[in-house]
This record gives sequence, structure tokens and C-alpha cells, in this order.
Amino acid sequence: MTATTKIANPRDIAHTVMALINELNLQPTPQVYHVFYSYVSDEIPELCQLLKVLIKNTQELDEETVFRIYHKYLGSHAMEQHINQGVEGLQAAVERVEEAVHSVMRDTELFCDEFDSASQKLSSDDITLDDARSVSRDLSGTSQKARECYGSFNGSLDEYHKEVRRVRNELELVRRDALTDTLTGIANRKNFDNSLRDAVTTTMETGAPLSLLMIDIDHFKEFNDNFGHRAGDGVLKAVARVLVSSTKGADTVARYGGEEFAVILPNTTKENSEKLANKLRENVSTQRIINKKTGKDFGKLTVSIGLTSYQLGENILEFVDRADKALYLAKQDGRNTCVPQ
Ligand code: GH3
Ligand code: MG
Ligand code: MG
Repeated sequence: MTATTKIANPRDIAHTVMALINELNLQPTPQVYHVFYSYVSDEIPELCQLLKVLIKNTQELDEETVFRIYHKYLGSHAMEQHINQGVEGLQAAVERVEEAVHSVMRDTELFCDEFDSASQKLSSDDITLDDARSVSRDLSGTSQKARECYGSFNGSLDEYHKEVRRVRNELELVRRDALTDTLTGIANRKNFDNSLRDAVTTTMETGAPLSLLMIDIDHFKEFNDNFGHRAGDGVLKAVARVLVSSTKGADTVARYGGEEFAVILPNTTKENSEKLANKLRENVSTQRIINKKTGKDFGKLTVSIGLTSYQLGENILEFVDRADKALYLAKQDGRNTCVPQ
């Protein structure tokens, strides 16, 4: 599959993108998807050329390389450029609409003059039949011009709406990018802070329970030292996948920092969050960590989890600190365990 075969329909592009990502044995994180979407839809010539070369030589095309490409061509810097272009496009579209409005106003003045003059002629006492026919022809010409003028004004409005939609989509991409962790594709720390603030506010409004899990990979430094930082990165992605697939829609799974994750659980009591925490812990510890390219087995990995529920009236820092303290106790308890506080 190459980017030279142009595919116009977004649904077809999406199918091709997923097929390509599977074929190359990559994870479909938002960034990987974005890079291949751009490639398949032939948006950026340099990115297309680079990927063509890399796809021929799949040894070089791992997720790290794709992330580098993402940051170069599509990351926040590139997005900033997109936004600037979007704003410029929007300004130009607004100017075109302004010009079209002025033109409609000028034409409307002319049409009014022509109608006034026709009305004067028709109300004259000595008007002949020929004069009346001539006025009728003029009026018909005027109404034709009015239609054309309206049609062109409508066209300008359509263009303006298209431009607004395009810029809105770009902004949505930038917003999503700013809230996503680049390595794992889950919510980043900023996203976590926002989501926790919202969740605490809802709990204060409704009194519904709210729980928080703090999850830290056990002996991760040792894993990095033994198998290398890149294998460690693969583990972070694998753990993020397990956490996401073991939780539900309203829950927020975030990378809190380094090898630490957090899960916000709205409408969840401490008892239920402990059950879930144990399920997550088991789901991680029963996974075998295998390098999908070399088949190398890295053995097992465990996490420690601290959990707590929000106490009405406390501030967010107290809430997070208690979950952190519970995590510390879980580590002290010998790891691969969950501790509620
Ligand atoms: P503990 O069981 O007490 O949590 O031990 P630990 O080794 O997991 O904890 P420690 O805080 O000593 O080490 C954390 C390690 O996590 C060290 C750091 O290199 C690694 N780490 C943090 N962020 C990343 C990352 O983005 N990628 C990789 N590969 N490693 C990371
Ligand atoms: Mg750790
Ligand atoms: Mg840690």
C-alpha cells in the first residue's frame, strides 16, 4: 500500500490506515494513527516520502520512529503552524464574506433604484403599451441580476462555513494532542488534573462516591537496567493498554508521571474500587511481556496500587496525597498488592 494511490473517502482512508498499521505490527495509538492517516491521505509530501522509504525497510519502522515523525510533522509545533494557517484562512474567508455583503448591499441599492424608476414610469398618466413592455423587460432583467447576486452571496457563505469547519477540526486535534500522553496514547498529567477537578466538583454537587487509584510499576528501574529503556517504554504502553481495557467509559486512566499511572473512578465506592484495583493488578501480573519483533520473553511484571475515596469537604491535594500514601504502604507491604486508605 502506498500513499500514491489517492483515497478520497475518509472511511476508506481509515480502513487503509488500520490495515497498514496492522501489517506493520504497530500499535494504533492516536499519534501512530495520525501519522498513517496523513500518509494515506497524501497530506504532507515530505512525510509521505519518508514513510515510503521506511515502509520498504520495516526494520526501521518502530513506534519510536513513528513518534519522532509525528512530532516533526504533526506534533504541537506543526499543529501551531496548522492553526496559524487556519486562522489566516479564516480571516481571508471573513474578508471575502464582508466583501460579498458589501457587494450585495451595493447591488440591492441599484435594484431599489431600478424598481423606483420602474414604479415611477408605470404610474405616469401618459404611459404607452410599448413603454410598459419595456419597463416589464427591465424589471425581468433586474430580478435575474438579483438572483445571480444572491447565488454568489450564498456561495461565499458556503465557503466560509467550510473554512470554519476545517479550523474547528484542527482545533479539536490540537486540543486532543495537548491532553494525550505521547508514549502511551492515554490521558496525560494535564488531562488527569482537569478530569480530577471535574470529578471532585461533580461529587461535591451530587454526593456521589468518587475513588482514585495510584498505580506504580514494581522494580521498573531494574527492568530498564536489565532490558533497556526501549523495552521499558514497551512495558509502559502494555500496562496502559491493560488499564484501559480493564476499565469503563466514565473512568479516566492517565499516566501520572514516569512509571506511575492514576485511575479516576466516578460513582465508585472504596469497596468497589478495591475490587477493581485487584482486578487491574491481576490483569497486569498475568501478562507475559514479550517483544513482538524478536519474540524475547521479558517475564512477568507487577504493580502496586494505593486507593482512596473522596471525603466531602477536603481539597484535591489532600485526596491525592492520601492515595499516594496508600501506594507507599503498598510498596512497603512487599509490592504486587493493593492498599486502601
Ligand atoms: P519501585 O518498585 O519502588 O517502584 O521501584 P522502581 O524501580 O519501579 O522505582 P524507581 O522510582 O526507583 O524507578 C523508576 C524507574 O522508572 C526509573 C526510570 O528510569 C523509569 N522510568 C520513568 N519514566 C520512564 C519512561 O518514560 N520510560 C522508561 N523506559 N522508563 C521510565
Ligand atoms: Mg516503580
Ligand atoms: Mg515511581
